[in-house]
Amino acid sequence: MMKVLALLFFVAFAFVQANNDYLEGSKVYTVRPMTKKDQLIVAGLDNIPGVDVWQHASIFGREARILVPKDSLTTFESVLRSSSVQYEVIMEDPKSVIEEEIKQQELARMKRVPGRISFTSYNRHAEINSYLDDLARQYPTRVKVETLGRTVNGRDIKVIKISSDGGNNPNKPIIVSDAGIHAREWIAPANALYMIRKLVEDITESDVANNIDWFIIPLINPDGYEYSHTNTRLWRKTRSTASSTTCPGVDGNRNFDFKWMQSGSSSSPCSDIFAGPTPFSEIETRVLRDLINANKARVKAYLAIHSYGSYFLYPYGYDGSNPSNVAELRSLGVQVGNAIDALAASGSTKYLVGNSAVALNYAAAGASDDWAMGVGGVSLSYTLELPGGGSAGFDLPPSRINQVVRETWGGILVLARYVINKAA
Ligand SMILES: [Zn+2]
Repeated sequence: MMKVLALLFFVAFAFVQANNDYLEGSKVYTVRPMTKKDQLIVAGLDNIPGVDVWQHASIFGREARILVPKDSLTTFESVLRSSSVQYEVIMEDPKSVIEEEIKQQELARMKRVPGRISFTSYNRHAEINSYLDDLARQYPTRVKVETLGRTVNGRDIKVIKISSDGGNNPNKPIIVSDAGIHAREWIAPANALYMIRKLVEDITESDVANNIDWFIIPLINPDGYEYSHTNTRLWRKTRSTASSTTCPGVDGNRNFDFKWMQSGSSSSPCSDIFAGPTPFSEIETRVLRDLINANKARVKAYLAIHSYGSYFLYPYGYDGSNPSNVAELRSLGVQVGNAIDALAASGSTKYLVGNSAVALNYAAAGASDDWAMGVGGVSLSYTLELPGGGSAGFDLPPSRINQVVRETWGGILVLARYVINKAA
């Protein structure tokens, strides 16, 4: 058995290795914009071919973290050198670091207890969908699982609808949440799965399980997610090829039809922030649009789950303007952040709460939270950026999954109870 596992591991690893070759000769930088002028220069770095912003700098003094491919190193450094922006190389060989992390992730998977959804390793798309289907069979009165759409690679995007009373009570608030629109952010689907567990299998807060109907899409971009497991670890986008077969994929969180392409987006298919040929070009974004539109009167909160950076962000991200209920968004956001911090492991990054464009000094249009509020009419709309881990930030070690999903649940309870009280 061990021999077979070892062989499988070797084959899988060799395959993955080959597909991360584009990282050969790349470097990772931290960049610290100190002035408004610096911020403009840093925001423009996105336009250099192949540059991948892992984390934006923030007004709270956090630095940006940026991967630069070999062919763009000269351009990148010369832009920064001709300005006053402070920068530093923090990783000379990202390829080997990421390959080592892939090995660790594979080891954790091999050690997982078979047959259950895991919180000690990251679950694959087929495992997630069969878990949802199992829950629907096991808890037929509480759970309905629906297929919202099929991806270009033929994968089903499923929603789990959790309700204590059949789901048709017109006065009951709905919370909609999705995870994994950015493929590489593996902790996001894990977090959605833990929410599902706490609302179906392991109910310890019955008020939250019973007084809200929950619509959760734990993995909204399965094609991208699977690709980040089997091929390119840092894959972010969908896998559609309508715009380009050489540069597939669209950034789902730039593809929503609200101020589309107005900021922080690219019209180049090869860019990691390609907004798509048209708004809602992707099945991954249309399914969410249709789910919210079909339940508009009842959806009271929307939560987009991402990583990383420990942020709790509210609209509008396209230009940093504030919605009319900004005071409510902010005060609830701070309570959510504090609740998570209170449960967090010591030494972990504190949550920061703010308007996403302002907090990150970076406006980006076409995101799901902006659309949910601006068009979907959902008054409590947030993006949750879970904590980072590993060298790239997206490789939160499997040993930390449990802690992160538990502490985050503490914050989601605050959001849910606010929704319940408001509806009462
Ligand atoms: Zn993201």
